[in-house]
Amino acid sequence: MRTLVIDHPLVTHKLTALRDAATDTATFRSLTAELVTLLAYEATREMRVQPVSVTTPVGIARGVKLARPAPLIVPVLRAGIGMLDGMTHLLPMANVGFVGLRRDEESLVASTYADRLPADLTGRDTFVLDPMLATGGTLTTVIGMLTHRGAASVTAICLLAAPEGLRHVEEAFAGDSTDDPSVRVVTAAVDERLNDRGYILPGLGDAGDRLFGQI
Ligand code: URA
Repeated sequence: MRTLVIDHPLVTHKLTALRDAATDTATFRSLTAELVTLLAYEATREMRVQPVSVTTPVGIARGVKLARPAPLIVPVLRAGIGMLDGMTHLLPMANVGFVGLRRDEESLVASTYADRLPADLTGRDTFVLDPMLATGGTLTTVIGMLTHRGAASVTAICLLAAPEGLRHVEEAFAGDSTDDPSVRVVTAAVDERLNDRGYILPGLGDAGDRLFGQI
């Protein structure tokens, strides 16, 4: 498993505004979309392509197009939905699957309540959208669902990660064999730690609530 922290002034600028408790819901949503598009630019760097030639007005140019099958984007309900627009902006040809996990607030253990994924993901590049990589329980479960169905690669895009969560995912997907699918986490920052309720510190609070309001 590899972790890529995108250290770019625009990324850090937008993340800082997201962290600010004074940022309202509408601004939080649009900043999230912009930040995801920036993270997605790096997250898609290793996508498979195939060579093609096109006829320009004055000659033939060699180039590439994204390889088939189409990539799959998997937002994790609920907060991952807030990242979908920013991702499809860059990958409009992708398919979208959905996974829902609920975290028990006492044990912090996540259980699956929704699974709308293709049964066979052989050869597909997949992108998981989950804003907060906290304990790593949810992400480990979702990555496992995708690798068991044959995904060629799984790249998780997270606005923020905690060291505890990264360790958890690293231990689950050490990638010892060359046959293992490539697993990566792309994030804007790795924060200090989790608090005793599993929130990232200093973090940005509850990403779902900040995107969609408290329900
Ligand atoms: N989920 C959130 O929304 N925020 C955190 O800090 C941790 C998990």
